[in-house]
Amino acid sequence: MRRLLVAGNWKMNASKVMLNELLASIVENAPQQTDVVVFPPAPYLMAASDKLQGSAVKLGGQNINPNDSGAYTGEISASMMIDCGCEAVLVGHSERRTLYAETDADVLAKTEAALNAGLIPYVCIGETLAEREANQTEAVIEQQINAVLNGLNVQQLAKCVFAYEPVWAIGTGKTASPEQAQQVHAFIRGLLAAKDEKLALNSHVLYGGSVKADNAKELFAQQDIDGGLVGGASLKAEEFLGICNPA
Ligand code: 13P
Repeated sequence: MRRLLVAGNWKMNASKVMLNELLASIVENAPQQTDVVVFPPAPYLMAASDKLQGSAVKLGGQNINPNDSGAYTGEISASMMIDCGCEAVLVGHSERRTLYAETDADVLAKTEAALNAGLIPYVCIGETLAEREANQTEAVIEQQINAVLNGLNVQQLAKCVFAYEPVWAIGTGKTASPEQAQQVHAFIRGLLAAKDEKLALNSHVLYGGSVKADNAKELFAQQDIDGGLVGGASLKAEEFLGICNPA
C-alpha cells in the first residue's frame, strides 16, 4: 500500500522569516497519515533541518551536481545535502531541463549521484504543451523515464520517487484534469512494470502542476497518483496543509 506523499518545492522563494513561519506551521499541523517533504532553497537547508528535528516532516534539496566534491564553483553535492540533513533531492525538474539545458544524461548522472550518497531522487518528467498537442506525450515521457530506467538496476530504482509534471500545468493555474493525469500516471506505471512488477507496485508516482487544496483530493483519488509535487501552493501554510490533508 502506497502512503500519500506530498512534497513542497519552494523553488527560488524563501527568507528567514518565511522559513520560520512556514516550517513551524507545517511541523505543527502536518497530518500523520501523509508523508510530507519540503524542498527549500539550498542556503536554508541547515536551518530547516534544525527546525524539523523531532518532526516527521522530511527535508530535500532542489538540485545537485553529479560530482562529489572539487572545483565546481557554485555547485552543491549530494553528500553535502546529506550532511545538511536532507533525505531527498529533485532531479530533472522541467525548469532545470529548459532554463539550464539539463539533458536526460544529466538527469541520470544526478540520479545516480543522489543514490550513491543515500538521497532519495525525485525524478521529474513531463511534456510541454506543444508536445501534448502533437500527440507526443507518451513518447516524451517514455524517453525521459527510460533514461533512468535503462541506466539503473531495480534495487536503485526502488529507492526513487517519480513525479509527472506536465510543463503546461506548472505555475499556470491549468491543472491537468484527474483523468488526464491518471492516464499518464498509468502509462508511467506500465513502463515501471515492464522493468519489474514489484517496482511498479511499490513506486510513488506524484503529480505536479498547479496542485491546490481544492483540486488535490480528486487528483489523489486516482488509482496511480500517489501524491503531489507542489510549487506555488507549498509557500502558503494553509494551502499546503490543505493539500497534505485533502478534504
Ligand atoms: P506549481 O504547483 O506552482 O504549478 O509548480 C509545480 C512544480 O513545478 C513543482 O515542482
